Amino acid sequence: MKSAGLKTGHYKRSPDVANATVREWLPRGRGDWRQDHWGSKLEEMTPTIEDLIPEYLRGLPVYVPGKPIEEVERELKIHAVKLASNENPLGPSPKGIAAAKAVLADSNRYPDGGTHALRETLGERHGVSPDEIFIGLGSSELIDLAARVLLRAGLQGLTSEGTYAPFSVAIRASGAELVLAPQREFAFDLKAMAKTIAPKTGVIYLANPNNPTGSAFGRAQFDEFLAVVPDGVLVVLDEAYIHYALSMGLRDSVEAYRQRKNLLILRTFSKVYGLAGLRIGYAIGRPELLSAMNKLRTPFNTSGVAQAAARAALDDKEHVARCIETNAAERNRLSEGLGKLGFRPVRSEANFVFMVVGPDAKALSDDLLHMGVIVRPLGWMGFPEAIRISVGTAEENDKCLSAMARVISKRAGKGELAAR
Ligand code: PLP
Repeated sequence: MKSAGLKTGHYKRSPDVANATVREWLPRGRGDWRQDHWGSKLEEMTPTIEDLIPEYLRGLPVYVPGKPIEEVERELKIHAVKLASNENPLGPSPKGIAAAKAVLADSNRYPDGGTHALRETLGERHGVSPDEIFIGLGSSELIDLAARVLLRAGLQGLTSEGTYAPFSVAIRASGAELVLAPQREFAFDLKAMAKTIAPKTGVIYLANPNNPTGSAFGRAQFDEFLAVVPDGVLVVLDEAYIHYALSMGLRDSVEAYRQRKNLLILRTFSKVYGLAGLRIGYAIGRPELLSAMNKLRTPFNTSGVAQAAARAALDDKEHVARCIETNAAERNRLSEGLGKLGFRPVRSEANFVFMVVGPDAKALSDDLLHMGVIVRPLGWMGFPEAIRISVGTAEENDKCLSAMARVISKRAGKGELAAR
């Protein structure tokens, strides 16, 4: 049945779907609509769906997650520890879990799409209005939304070499040009980045502390950098690991934000709060930017369970303090242990340790995997000679150090000691 007033037919579309605009409405002809009775030019359409995928998306790399424990245990039939994804080894906040359980039975209802309670709590926590808080599906969604709102073909997105790969992906997926500033001693070189800012720069992505190197910059360096960033360029400051850092205080970036209109701070519940599996994070930024991001997100991006857990976890001071202390102590022990084995880990301000191990980094990671220790080889992040080891519990770190010692002695026996 045809509804009155509903036109049928098809749109002529551009092969570049990202830039496609509906230009021309072609009325549907009688009989076989594929025939050219009414002047349609179907032959101009792309022959296959694959051809519709724009060139700049085809070349994008796929995010490589750390190997899941279950997969390793199933394949190798060994008990494994996962030190590959910078998760919280002490588990989720117990208060967060209790709150999540309490709302689980309401899962037949959609969650609060406006995330009012959590934005209220976070606003109070940071001394900003709830309109300056945006809740995302982890900080991953926020990285992507910032680029989708502000970047497009003809603009540039700037980040550094050797940083979190999704920054580059978000920039390229927006159609903008990716510009990478060089890194210096495994850290952001903010001076080099400042020099790279150009008239077409729209967004700059920074991670502090940086993943995968673990290095961090301090308040003075950051202020100096912000002072030279033009007002029309957004600085996205990803602070996923900020609780573990010594260089920059937890409040520093929010204070800087109060003085700047062009800063977007990203935080996550995936690390110190231990809620990586629930997928929830937040941004602090100007309401005008956040409301544009709000239009692009999916209507119920975060679940009610995640929102409840996040709110309760924020208040779980005891869990947060325990996680920070344990991480600091174990990070030292792991770094020292690796040092005794002849490695030179980069000084870390996060919950992982980065080190250059030589050209056989992938083989070394595979050897560790076969001993039940999952670490991250970093070729896909631009460091083919390095690995990253997440700080685990004392027991997990002991297992890692002893497996590493065995790998080294096995290799020394074969004359294959990695160049370190
Ligand atoms: N930003 C950085 C620097 C990260 O290392 C990670 C995850 O490892 C994320 C963001 C993503 O975190 P989320 O789980 O909040 O999406």
